[in-house]
Amino acid sequence: MNSRAIAELVFHLGRIASGEGLVEGLTAAQWAVLRYFAQANRFSRTPSAFAAFHATTRGTASQTIKSLETQGYLTRMRSEDDRRSVQLVLTEKARGILANDPFESLVRAADSLPPNIQGQFANALQRMLGQVAQERGKQPFGTCTSCQHLESDSCSRDEQASYACRFTREPLRLEELDGVCINFVPGKSMTMKGSITGAAQR
Ligand code: SF4
Repeated sequence: MNSRAIAELVFHLGRIASGEGLVEGLTAAQWAVLRYFAQANRFSRTPSAFAAFHATTRGTASQTIKSLETQGYLTRMRSEDDRRSVQLVLTEKARGILANDPFESLVRAADSLPPNIQGQFANALQRMLGQVAQERGKQPFGTCTSCQHLESDSCSRDEQASYACRFTREPLRLEELDGVCINFVPGKSMTMKGSITGAAQR
């Protein structure tokens, strides 16, 4: 298969997976917002982070977010770490409909792939995403487990290890490692605490 055919498939997959028409009364754009705030970590639950993630303008993002707040799907909460900052979080009403997200068909398709293919596929897509983001001057997003800023006192992801973010200088809970982050820097998997030098590593 040539490169253009692969690119067409990836593009088509993204288009059909995002859905069309109303599902649960929500548009594809509104579902994208709910999906983002369901996955974003505590440093990234803001309208501007969503706008960057979705490569849209802050104005468009704010309008869609406002409509979801009005309908009772999103609410604003003071951050536990920094009482001055406000995070957007999903309400119970939103969590109650997440399983009906049209995007879930793509999740099921990925889930049906053999584990070794999933790993290769994820790596290939991550590389493509990184290159396209760089060419377009867009910020790559990702999770702690492949971020240069993650510190851990263990090489493996086990319950006993403790984790911290070097960028925010905050401890991280195990369940937070899969959250999408605006401060993500790609290129490094888990590191031993104290082994990271000040230099960025790629
Ligand atoms: S380790 Fe990276 S992805 Fe995780 S919170 Fe810190 S900057 Fe974000």
